[in-house]
Amino acid sequence: MTNKVLGCYYMDDCIFCRIINGEIPSYTIYQDEKTLAFLDINPNTRGHTLVIPKKHAKNIIDMEDTDVEALFRTVKKVVSSMKVSLDLDGLNLVVNQGEVAGQVIHHFHCHIIPRYVDDGINYSSKGYSSSTEELEELAGKISVNI
Ligand code: AMP
Ligand code: ZN
Repeated sequence: MTNKVLGCYYMDDCIFCRIINGEIPSYTIYQDEKTLAFLDINPNTRGHTLVIPKKHAKNIIDMEDTDVEALFRTVKKVVSSMKVSLDLDGLNLVVNQGEVAGQVIHHFHCHIIPRYVDDGINYSSKGYSSSTEELEELAGKISVNI
């Protein structure tokens, strides 16, 4: 069920909406009118942070452009802060969309995963290869016209 709470659309059965609403505690890093950043409770690496829109949306397509813009401004703020506060060597920005991609919580979120030399994580597996013909065809097919 969707309610309008404090100017935000809220789903009763969504963990992240309940965090936004203060019903579940979180380790808050930053918040503003449209976004919230907090530590992932089950981190991949030290400092793993999630950034979410305060207005519930399952994925990026369902979000208003202004909320997408606000979200990535917050991602940049958190990354800038991590650069000075953590001794990280790099980071991954990850969005899982759909169960096949590993999305467990159906409230859009961007993972900011600090990376450290020898942290043992490998995101670079290549499970597919395209021929040049297929690359050509795909570039035409996916070409953005809107
Ligand atoms: P995803 O698989 O992309 O849907 O990621 C969901 C993430 O939310 C996982 O990394 C979880 O560890 C994290 N998570 C689940 N519940 C909480 C919570 N209450 N506070 C912080 N992070 C959470
Ligand atoms: Zn939600």
